[in-house]
Amino acid sequence: MLMAPTVPTAHSLMPVNQRPDLVFVRGAGAHLFDREGRRYLDWVQGWAVNCLGHSPAVVAQALSAQAATLINPGPAFYNEPAMELAALLTQHSCFDHVFFGNSGAEANEGAIKLARKWGQLHKDCAFEIITFGNSFHGRTLATMSASGKAGWDTIFAPQVPGFPKAVFNDLDSVRALVGPDTVAIMLELTQGEAGVIPADTAFLRGLRALCDTHGLLLIVDEVQTGCGRTGALFAYEHYGIEPDIMTLGKGLGGGVPLSALLAKKACSCFEAGDQGGTFCGNPLTCAVGLAVVRSLLADGFLESSRSISAQLKQGLVEISQELHLGEVRGRGALLALELGCDIGAKVVTLASERGLLLNAPRAHCLRFMPALNSSADEVSEGLGLLRETLAAALA
Ligand SMILES: *Cc1c(COP(=O)(O)O)cnc(C)c1O
Repeated sequence: MLMAPTVPTAHSLMPVNQRPDLVFVRGAGAHLFDREGRRYLDWVQGWAVNCLGHSPAVVAQALSAQAATLINPGPAFYNEPAMELAALLTQHSCFDHVFFGNSGAEANEGAIKLARKWGQLHKDCAFEIITFGNSFHGRTLATMSASGKAGWDTIFAPQVPGFPKAVFNDLDSVRALVGPDTVAIMLELTQGEAGVIPADTAFLRGLRALCDTHGLLLIVDEVQTGCGRTGALFAYEHYGIEPDIMTLGKGLGGGVPLSALLAKKACSCFEAGDQGGTFCGNPLTCAVGLAVVRSLLADGFLESSRSISAQLKQGLVEISQELHLGEVRGRGALLALELGCDIGAKVVTLASERGLLLNAPRAHCLRFMPALNSSADEVSEGLGLLRETLAAALA
């Protein structure tokens, strides 16, 4: 019997997320296209993942060239893209060693394991990692336990122990938690899910000093802030300090699943067998990472991204003043606008009806994560749509 062609539906997918009734079939740079042929300016970009926009040529080329050459020799063997990408990342950061993973959570799991191992070797088996209220580190059991999201302490109880929570940007609250079992402090340099809250310079420098005094490791989760998102290659560069451990994800693969755990030699203490994974450091994703990081490092790229971000920030400030909204905050292409009331979800829906994709990490604020290579015209287009949407939402 001949079956009529059917349009795919979501009924066989686990309902893990509330999604709008849109199905995207194509992406190009700053824009997405749904299967009705509608075009959207995308200021979510896969949650700050597509740093070069949708389906950039460098990523497509790296993928197809590497796919035709070598996809998977297996993690028991070296491959050239992984070695090259690790060398590039260490050359442009303060770190010496890299382990590649497939997700931000996996990189953070690795950071947690590395800190615990270091504690066993050098600090009397200290294992506690101080993390922060409202933080987000991923969705595995350990990274959920490290996260400070409301409700996450009980949802899949029992938690993984060893993650006392301090208050972000409050050095005294961290000091109060340091004890004989403390091995590390882990934080996002801008808390993204919390609503784009940057760490203060004095706070981060204070954490560095606290770590030096007590012999603790400073772990920065740059899964969201890394790879050019805040205007520097890595956000820690804004602060004039060096962390001991850093994790990357999201932007590193420009849309393909790739993450990294980076460590200074002094704390890079994994021995053979301690860490690994079937797909970790595979040449397919590492070749893409290489193409992405080379693009970010190309002459003038970050500079031009910073000027586009400044245009966006200025436009948000003007909209906020005109419509009597709240604070505009954040760095580079990771910005937030306070709405003054809980209309975030409504604004997201109204904006998507007008062809603008937005994210509201909290009911009272919007988060902006455009492609780092957006054009001035695209930013103007988005600001126009946003202004219209907000005016309608407030009317
Ligand atoms: C997205 C994110 C993660 C988790 O990354 P996944 O790839 O979803 O596992 C961890 N930390 C931060 C700061 C993030 O923004």
